Amino acid sequence: MSEHDFSKRAGGGWRLEHSYAQLPRLLHVAVSPTAVRAPRMAVWNRKLAEELGLDAAAWASAEGASGAAAEIFSGNVLPPGASPLAQAYAGHQYGHFTTLGDGRAILLGEQITPRGERWDVQLKGAGPTPYSRRGDGRATLGAMLREYVISEAMHAMGIPSTRSLAVVATGEEIWRQDGARPGAVLTRVATSHIRVGTFEWVAARRDEAALRALVAYTLQRHYPELAGAENPPFVLLGAVIERQARLIAQWMSVGFVHGVMNTDNMALSGETIDYGPCAFMEAYDPATVFSSIDRDGRYAYGNQPQIAQWNLARLAEALLTVLHPQEEAAIALANQALGGFGERYQRHWLAGMRRKLGLFNEEPEDGALIEALLEWMHSAKVDFTNTFADLERVAPTTWAERWQARQARQSQSLEEAMRLRCANCPAVIPRNHRVEETLAAAEQGDVSVLERLLAVLAAPYDYARARAADVAEYRVPAPDGGEGYRTFCGT
Ligand code: AMP
Ligand code: MG
Repeated sequence: MSEHDFSKRAGGGWRLEHSYAQLPRLLHVAVSPTAVRAPRMAVWNRKLAEELGLDAAAWASAEGASGAAAEIFSGNVLPPGASPLAQAYAGHQYGHFTTLGDGRAILLGEQITPRGERWDVQLKGAGPTPYSRRGDGRATLGAMLREYVISEAMHAMGIPSTRSLAVVATGEEIWRQDGARPGAVLTRVATSHIRVGTFEWVAARRDEAALRALVAYTLQRHYPELAGAENPPFVLLGAVIERQARLIAQWMSVGFVHGVMNTDNMALSGETIDYGPCAFMEAYDPATVFSSIDRDGRYAYGNQPQIAQWNLARLAEALLTVLHPQEEAAIALANQALGGFGERYQRHWLAGMRRKLGLFNEEPEDGALIEALLEWMHSAKVDFTNTFADLERVAPTTWAERWQARQARQSQSLEEAMRLRCANCPAVIPRNHRVEETLAAAEQGDVSVLERLLAVLAAPYDYARARAADVAEYRVPAPDGGEGYRTFCGT
């Protein structure tokens, strides 16, 4: 055994536990990844590996791209202590209830980090499971790299998100609508993969004991400070509503369009999850939709807060039988909790927008000031990100005068206001045409374009760096303002 053997040396840093597997049987099924032909590491998140306590340096050693790490993160070799399973869940997809489950994702276990945190380590695209239905259990290299880029960009912006540890090309071709594509496995890391759809699944099975167990487990894992509460389902619902209100406000503040906000794609942890046809808005327009299958614009940029509330209502419904023994009282509790979403969302949104404008204190007219800016941005079809990043130069005069007068009424200096703005207005976002360009190059075997983009996206608020020529080019919007850009579900 060589000193640098990733999988074996002192366990490679693996410390896997399996608390989820202790939940009732209807929530999971044991299943192993299906081996792939010729795994090669395409991208590896060394920093995240270190945070997880994995032996990150070992992979960079003599073993190279097809070494032990590629074997592990393709699913060919299980890391020590792994006990793979697929999770069961249901979900409302485009408004319609369906039973789903991990059709191509396999949880290896929960890694306990050196800081004592518990993070799911999951292989996405690792082969079929009992929940695959007609799917092949696989994922394309393009889609997995896309998830890697965007999830890591979200994290760098300070927006809660699942993380991406590695993408391994499988050396196999998979078939999609547009023909044969290179396959890949993404290692996704999350504080958990419990979804609104997980609760819907248990509720649909009418297993009240399992539902109570899932409530207790979720509270313990994500909201331990509330674990001793008198009415656990009620406090869980309230806590999730608060986290989702904050998350969606953060999405809105950077122009993120998730694209497929089905209830199975909403995590109880409050992390952004399941990056599919997502994309960042360029020209400001609340009707922005990128997903080719979202024909009615259900998941358009401007609809996201409303859809989040709709999804949370599905969570409340799933919890009804355990919220209160009497149905009427349970419904009243659910409505009480759900009624708080709008106000919470509005509060987070306003606070975020104030920071983007460099405002430290609150004035009653701030909402109107922001709306006036957005109205102008919409009619002028200006780039959302760059307008905020360069507001004093690009804002129309009459609005700028209002804004200046508003800033003058706070005690902080203009310099302090500028610093607040810079820390809240990303200079760089994963622009769609740049993301596509990196995926195309990676499919041809060149990951250097991707690595450059990742390096730029790792410091979205670094304006000094953003002004350098090699970063500035990433700030240029698509020639048509991103209009007509479509993302596909051929994942
Ligand atoms: P998503 O659109 O990624 O949220 O996936 C929705 C559901 O379809 C989930 O249950 C996935 O596991 C499943 N799914 C997506 N792609 C595949 C595939 N290629 N094979 C099997 N199941 C899949
Ligand atoms: Mg999903």
